[in-house]
Parts: sequence; structure tokens; C-alpha cells
Amino acid sequence: MTDYKIINGTVLSFEGGKPVLSDRTLYIREGIIHFSPGSENDSRETVDARHMLVMPGLINMHTHAYMTLMRNYADDVPFQEWLFNRVMPVEDNLPAEAAYWANQLAFMEMIQTGTTCFVDMHMYPRQSALAAKDAGLRAYIGRGLVGEDLYKDGYSRFKQALEEREEFESDTIKFILSPHAIYSCSEKLLRQVTEEADRLHLLKQTHLSESVTELNDCIRAHGKTPVKYLQDIGFLDQNTILAHCVQMQGDDLDIIKQSGASIVTNVASNAKLGNGIAPLSQMQEKGISVCIGTDGAASNNSLNLFREMGLLSLIHKGHCRDCMAIPSDYIVKAATCHASLALKEPRIGNIAEGSAADIIFVDLKAPSLFPNNNILSSLCYSANGSEVDSVMVNGKFVMRKKELLTIDREKVYHEVNRIVKNHL
Ligand SMILES: [Zn+2]
Repeated sequence: MTDYKIINGTVLSFEGGKPVLSDRTLYIREGIIHFSPGSENDSRETVDARHMLVMPGLINMHTHAYMTLMRNYADDVPFQEWLFNRVMPVEDNLPAEAAYWANQLAFMEMIQTGTTCFVDMHMYPRQSALAAKDAGLRAYIGRGLVGEDLYKDGYSRFKQALEEREEFESDTIKFILSPHAIYSCSEKLLRQVTEEADRLHLLKQTHLSESVTELNDCIRAHGKTPVKYLQDIGFLDQNTILAHCVQMQGDDLDIIKQSGASIVTNVASNAKLGNGIAPLSQMQEKGISVCIGTDGAASNNSLNLFREMGLLSLIHKGHCRDCMAIPSDYIVKAATCHASLALKEPRIGNIAEGSAADIIFVDLKAPSLFPNNNILSSLCYSANGSEVDSVMVNGKFVMRKKELLTIDREKVYHEVNRIVKNHL
């Protein structure tokens, strides 16, 4: 039997890389989208999506969900001060259980602003995966790895990551390896992570070329850029996701393109931490699959991908002094179908026959989107996230008519207040 029959909506999908709007009816069975009712004519429920844009859920390709605890906690300070003197001391003292509630707070914001899937780099064993499972979100969970030797000082985190994978991996929760950065991981550890990712068939994500300091330190230490350094130690391949890539020099982008690695751009975080503006136009020209991430709420300070989409286009148009730069259809694809390429998961990021039913319903009668002269433009230049009415992940509603169905909002606020009072 069909679980949901979705009628009367305006459906946004991508065909041959191009956005297409249609009025087709969707049939959701066992978490999968179908375009025909199949042999079963009955459906458990008909969803009237009149005045709604029915589109693929947004995919946040780089975040640290637990960082909601530190939202607006360390602003307007230099990046090195922010990371080493403000954020890391708090992280060092937080109990693991704090991360569960911080994640739940993050997921409330993600769901309410249309995110159905996220790629996380986290610090606390089990809590991110447990919270994502409870919230019903699709997640790629990466345990942050640091140190000299994966099998010595880095081993406890690596072991925990594998144990979490064993415990939580499912159709909607996957695990990746997340070495933090070239300045917090030794060459040996990065090589070991590459070997383990190959052996275990896992994706890997790292921060790369985020700041001028990182770039200059790498050139001083190794005589080459961070990109070239990672290429030379065999880290870059098609299963690699690179967050930031702000400070690109020489043939860095060509190296990334040839390696098949993906880039996640984090425009708000990069701007707020004074790290600069990634060369998105050049990335686009070279055909690199660029995705969008918010980074954590301590450096953005929002997990709202609609805000990120608008900023990304506006900042680049202004920076390049080119109103044609980074058009709205590219931005919407970067937040949806590009992510499916980077994650090697063709079932997400589109509304297509056989896709996973990760769907958001956006209210086209919201004043901020009305009149509907150009829906793609409105998603990029007008939407603020509040227009998201309902959210479905893997065929199950996690928000319906603005009501969160999987998260106890007041409980989360209570627990987060308690944690902030005791630990920040
Ligand atoms: Zn990050």
C-alpha cells in the first residue's frame, strides 16, 4: 500500500542537471518516491500540497551540530583566538551527554528550515548518531580525528567511530572518517586515515585551506600549499570531501578537479571568521562539484541553509562585480543534487522515481515568496527558511504544518539551558 499520495503540489526536480517544475502526483511507499500508484491503488493518506513547492530536502554538507551550545558565545574575535582559546577549552570540558541536547537543538533549526540530511564532524561518542536517529534525520556522522598516529594517540577516537558505526549504521545514518585538518593531524595519521577509508569503503571529510595562517604555515613547513600537500600524501580522491577551500593558489583547483574530490563551501562562516571568500566562480568554471555547508553554529551562527544560499549568491555577485555570477539554479543544485554526487548516494537530492522520500514542502503563499514569478529565484533571493511548512525524511514526516513531530522542543530548551549554565 502507498503510505502517502501527494497531490496538487508544484514539484521541483532535476532532469539532466536542469531544474524542472511540474504538477505531478507523488506516491511514497516504504520511504521511496514513485511517480505511479503501482498495482496498489489505495494510499494510507492523501496529502494536499496545494500552494506548496514540493522539493528535495536541503543537504548541509559540513557542520558540527553540537556547536549550537556555543552559538553567539565567541564572536568578533580572530580565528586562531576563536578556535584555540574560546571553542576548544569549552569542548574539552563538555560532558558527552551535553552533545545529545546540543544536537537536538541543531536538528530543530535544521528541520524548521528545510534540511533533511547533514554531514557532521563531531567530538562526542554516540551522541550525534543517537540524536540523529531519534530526530529521524538522514546523517553522515564523522568522528573528528586528531593526533600523530591513528593507532596510538588517535586510536580511542578511531575505535569509538568504528563502534558507533557498528551500533548505529542504517539506511539513513552512515559513517565517514573526519580527520580535523592538516594542522591538527600528522602526515602519518592522514595517510593512515586514507588507508582505513579505502579498506572500510568510507568517505572522508576534512577542513582544508580555511585561513591564510593555515596556508602560510603549510608553505613554511612543507614548501607547498595545503592542497598540494594532501595530493602528495595520497589523501585526495573521489571519496574525499573538502570543507572551506578558501585560500586557493596556483593549480590548487585543478588538482582538486583531477582528484575527483568534492568541495563544501561555507560562505557565512568564512566571512564571519575573517577567513575570506572562496573562489566559487572558478570552482564552477572548472566543473568541481561544489556543495553548501553552514559549518557549526559557533562560527556562522546559523544552521539555516536558505540563509546560506542567499548569502552565497549575493556575496559572490558583489565580490566578482558580476550580477551573472553564481545564479539561483546553481545555488539550489549546490544545496541538493550536488550533495548526492559528493556523498555517492544517488537516491538523495532529487525528486525522481526511486529517490528516497526526503521532501520539503515550501509555502508558496508566504508573503516573502509571493507572487511566484520565479520559484528558483525566490528560493535563493527571497526565502528565509520560515516558509518551510512540512518536512519528510525517508518517507516519514518529521515536521507537519510547522509542528515538530520527533523532537520535544521544551525539553531541549530546558536541557540546553542547564548545560550552558553549568559548562560555558
Ligand atoms: Zn568545520
